[in-house]
Amino acid sequence: MNLLSLLWHLQQTDLELEDKSQRARQVDATLANDPALAAARTAHDAAQQQLAAARAQLRDRELEAQTLDAKIKTLEERLYSGRVTNPKELDGMEKDLQMHRRQRDALDDKLLTQMDTVERGQKDAEAKMRVREQAEAARAHELAQLTRERDALAARLAELNATRTQTRGTLAPEALSTYDHLRRKIGRAVAPIKRESCGLCGVATPTGLAHRAREGNELVLCPGCGRILAG
Ligand SMILES: [Zn+2]
Repeated sequence: MNLLSLLWHLQQTDLELEDKSQRARQVDATLANDPALAAARTAHDAAQQQLAAARAQLRDRELEAQTLDAKIKTLEERLYSGRVTNPKELDGMEKDLQMHRRQRDALDDKLLTQMDTVERGQKDAEAKMRVREQAEAARAHELAQLTRERDALAARLAELNATRTQTRGTLAPEALSTYDHLRRKIGRAVAPIKRESCGLCGVATPTGLAHRAREGNELVLCPGCGRILAG
């Protein structure tokens, strides 16, 4: 390969290295975290906590109901046993019984509401679990794909680095320093000539320069952008 072919080849290698390295970083970042799955897990955990709290509250209400039922039963037994004959005491027991029954009725409403809350919480937790399972499955699939891609990228990057080292080894130091300087300054160091103009900046390439560039044995710079012209 002549000088310009080597520089062109080096640039193709460097551009692919840049591109593949960037993709490798993206793949690593995606492998490291998955916001969709994290959100699905958080939502499911929160729904489960809410459900647990609703169930605990329902149990509390049920215990309250049992306690009241026991009190009512005891009062009724005493009241209708005939053992208590004092009218004042009977009246007091009757009032207590009425109060407990009212409390018990009110509690029934609360129990129904709470059962409803538990049921809704259960449905919500189940829905969130399905979303989470889907996200887990999608992630597992994605992880397998990404891991394959990461391995392929690593292999290709190793090849490119070897090619780069080899190509740079065959280029003269002056050509390399011009190339490196342009790469740092404007990204692409070598511009193809297209229709007698620089393919990157569009400035016309004088015939003499184009001819020398096509020979490919010396560095010919574009009068517009200063890049190395490749014929
Ligand atoms: Zn140019």
